[in-house]
Amino acid sequence: RAAAGPQYLSGLNPEQREAVETLDGPVLVLAGAGTGKTRVLTTRIAHILSQGRARPHEILSVTFTNKAAREMKLRLGQMLGQAVEGMPWLGTFHSIGGRILRIHAELVQLKSNFTVLDVDDQVRLLKQLLQADNIDDKRWPARMLAGLIDGWKNRGLSPSQVPAGEAASFGNGKGGKIYATYQERLKILNAADFGDLLLENIRLFRENPDVLRQYQNRFRFILVDEYQDTNVAQYLWLRLLSQAPSRPERRLADVIPGRIEDANPESRGHEDSARDSGSAPTAHPGMTENAAAASASPPKNICCVGDDDQSIYGWRGAEVDNILRFEHDFPGAKVIRLERNYRSTGHILAAASHLIAHNEGRLGKTLRTEDVDGEKVTVTGSWDSEEEARAIGEELEELQRTGENLNDVAILVRASFQMREFEDRFVTLGLPYRVIGGPRFYERAEIRDALAYLRTINSPADDLAFERIVNVPKRGLGDATVQLLHDHARKRRIPLFEAARAVVETDELKPKARGSLRDLVMQFDRWRAQREVTSHTELAEIVLDESGYTEMWQKDRSADAAGRLENLKELVRSMEEFENLQGFLEHISLVMDRDGDAGDEAVSLMTLHSAKGLEFDNVFLPGWEEGLFPSQRTLDEQGRAGLEEERRLAHVGLTRARRRAKIYFATNRRIHGTWSTTIPSRFLDELPAHNVEITESKGGSGWGGSGGYGASRFDNLESFGSSYSTPGWQRAQANRNRGGGGRSGSGFEERQSSFSSESFNRTKRGPVVI
Ligand code: ATP
Ligand code: MG
Repeated sequence: RAAAGPQYLSGLNPEQREAVETLDGPVLVLAGAGTGKTRVLTTRIAHILSQGRARPHEILSVTFTNKAAREMKLRLGQMLGQAVEGMPWLGTFHSIGGRILRIHAELVQLKSNFTVLDVDDQVRLLKQLLQADNIDDKRWPARMLAGLIDGWKNRGLSPSQVPAGEAASFGNGKGGKIYATYQERLKILNAADFGDLLLENIRLFRENPDVLRQYQNRFRFILVDEYQDTNVAQYLWLRLLSQAPSRPERRLADVIPGRIEDANPESRGHEDSARDSGSAPTAHPGMTENAAAASASPPKNICCVGDDDQSIYGWRGAEVDNILRFEHDFPGAKVIRLERNYRSTGHILAAASHLIAHNEGRLGKTLRTEDVDGEKVTVTGSWDSEEEARAIGEELEELQRTGENLNDVAILVRASFQMREFEDRFVTLGLPYRVIGGPRFYERAEIRDALAYLRTINSPADDLAFERIVNVPKRGLGDATVQLLHDHARKRRIPLFEAARAVVETDELKPKARGSLRDLVMQFDRWRAQREVTSHTELAEIVLDESGYTEMWQKDRSADAAGRLENLKELVRSMEEFENLQGFLEHISLVMDRDGDAGDEAVSLMTLHSAKGLEFDNVFLPGWEEGLFPSQRTLDEQGRAGLEEERRLAHVGLTRARRRAKIYFATNRRIHGTWSTTIPSRFLDELPAHNVEITESKGGSGWGGSGGYGASRFDNLESFGSSYSTPGWQRAQANRNRGGGGRSGSGFEERQSSFSSESFNRTKRGPVVI
């Protein structure tokens, strides 16, 4: 082995090795899941360092998440046999962009200690600007503009570059102008929003060729993971940095192609043809020069790795085209394909490959494994989402009993609201878990807000709760008002809420704030009275509605608003499982109490989107139902392209698994607040029968068991989905209604009582015995 080179190279296959050792010139590794792309990138850095080709601070290495960056650093240390000191430029696009921006802040009219605004700050600022411009916030919500601006920034568009039609689409033609004012205001506040971390960095480079040159010189090697999910702004930023350093006397326009036109795919196309032909007399002067510059200087050492079948951020502006354009952008690029999957066993890989083959817009690639076939992918049907959570909970306990490490187990959901049921189940079972890539369900901002309303109703002395929502949604009760309430409360030793009741009787507040506070106090009094006559779930719905809280999110156009609304509905749904508000709130405090530290070993719970790049021995994939996965919203909004993106997401999910992949669907699920009978996901039909096993739900009677519904019925899974809506399906369901089918423990009848919802009962009684 030693003769073959350094230790870290041993074990790589020839193609991987080529990707690691080709240090000069552009390299694209285009390969499927689990083929070692990330490993190649890490090994490449080790190789660059140990060959002395660059020092740590001369390597720019971009990962998709901060977690992935930490992981890479760790692996690097293992490969080199020592901790890696000073890799300042290993991180996400935003962390690196922000870092560069701080160093040169004054060149973009900021100070180096500038603040990074979160979405709430952003919205608050935009609201002020809308007001100043007399734009009706009701008709044109600030959150909607925040979403638009975000989208523009993802596409690398500064205010002057936003297409006129789009700029005019908001606020009676004033959208673009407010975007410009917003950028100016950010400068005055010494602040940047998230999108600015890249966009302002791009502007910095464009306006200061000497600064750009400094970084072009510094970064002798550029490496990018998950290249298929870069958006236009990230692409432009990379393009700037990956140009060979220019000669100082050359004009900026000659060496930096990325101007207004650059964000527009069509003009990028022109530029390519100019470059490909080597001359383009009629093209933009800057482009022609650029073609010359590109051919005159040695190509930059950039290595990007990606997989078009794992592009799952189209909804956030990612352009899979970037990966397809690589050879155009970097002439002479070496494209390396890796075909051996080292992650998954045979059945899992076959199932994933067969599924993704249903997509049309793909490059197509071969994947093989030399691993054993292993266990088949299982598909398990449950009666409803609660049974699904119970079934998975039991499987997890079983895994625990057989000595599996819980760190090697993940549950991947399509939508964050699905997490609630699992979290509750895990708390009941005492099973340690962690939520990756986001807060735990009950810790989400919208859930905490909703809970704060309910807590204030339940206990008027709960100051923390009242203070949290006194001005959410905004009702003109800002910091000054809250301060006044605190003063009152302290002086008279009464709760904040009672202080509010007292203050509205005085003239200490301006009339507007006073009126608003009085309304709020009266609202709470009314809700408390209602509590006596309505169910706690109904009360929650009323409160979220009348307080304007739901409406606040309905008006929000940011990418996660719809998810937040789903979470709120799920919260109300979860209340059904408790007798009253008090009981529910007690449960919440128990769950919240288990905060933070999940111990060393814990099951990971996350969305499919957050699972990108990760791997686990055991992967659970619940909720494979039409409407949920593929998501109805994506289908409605993006049609066929949306369906293909959903399918890539399913492919990402399956390919996270090393040894076991377990898919679940429930026949009844409450989505958007109503129970409905669901149809198994079309993705189940698209799995190859040979690699899949239909199994029985351990949490109940399941679909595969006593009803004569075993796997043998499915010679071919293509008929899988439809079978479930035929009389056979009804028979199985009827079995269940009789309490048959070998339900263990808490049978259906028992659970019947815990659900009061009309619609649930309707669904439940629906099917008839044939
Ligand atoms: P994804 O597309 O999901 O991000 P990837 O292509 O980045 O996958 P890696 O995560 O780098 O794949 O590798 C997948 C698994 O295979 C890892 O556990 C990795 O250590 C292992 N692996 C990769 N190459 C080899 C090899 N040559 N020998 C043994 N194991 C390997
Ligand atoms: Mg990877």
